[in-house]
Amino acid sequence: MVLLGPPGVGKGTQAALIEAAIDACHLSTGDLFRAAAASHVPPSPAMQAALAGIARGELASDGMVIALLRERVHCLTCPHGFLLDGFPRTAPQATVLEALLDEASVALDGAVYLQAPDAVIIERLSGRRVCRTCRRSHHLDHHPPCRSGCCDACGGQLYQRDDDVPAAIAVRLAHYARTTPALLAFYQQRGLLRTVDATGTPHDVFARAETTIGWRLGVQPPVTPARHPAQDA
Ligand code: ADP
Repeated sequence: MVLLGPPGVGKGTQAALIEAAIDACHLSTGDLFRAAAASHVPPSPAMQAALAGIARGELASDGMVIALLRERVHCLTCPHGFLLDGFPRTAPQATVLEALLDEASVALDGAVYLQAPDAVIIERLSGRRVCRTCRRSHHLDHHPPCRSGCCDACGGQLYQRDDDVPAAIAVRLAHYARTTPALLAFYQQRGLLRTVDATGTPHDVFARAETTIGWRLGVQPPVTPARHPAQDA
């Protein structure tokens, strides 16, 4: 599946819940960029420019993101499926993904579009604090850490992402509004778009996603039994 929706709508949170339910491979392009920013290996000049743009709320170029995805193309054939979070974000990215999936003979189960009003998004992003170690998100009001500044899950240091400040949030929402209609139309035309109301708690949203996707995420999807060579004769 691919997860679509505005910045901060909870794609990462839902991806983690779905991953826990069905053991699918979760690939977040935003996390790949943040890992590059935190890496001890100095980023290439192109990556350095992309990271500076990302901190201001801009999108990375299609070429750069597609190259990152290609490096992890094996995730698309993981045995329990994959969840792409943050990719595709533009129609050209969706076209490349479709070609990669065709090459791998993999069909998408759906493009899950998480939807919430701008006011909810802005409030979620402004209060978000992320763990430097395990990347888990907290929220200053809705999910405050037990110990100020420390991750509940691993004790790591919580920080505010550069792009979660008001000026960058405004830029991200503007890019989102510009690029998303074509992306939604792409999946709508293929009968794959599944819209989910993303307001409420993470578990409310997960329950709605389960219903909308049409199969119980709490249950392992059926595994096709391996064929015996004699069956093919
Ligand atoms: P968000 O919380 O806004 O959904 P992510 O954590 O997915 O953000 O990504 C952080 C930033 O990384 C994005 O705002 C964007 O600048 C960049 N980025 C991630 N994925 C893509 C993509 N597919 N195309 C272009 N830029 C991307």
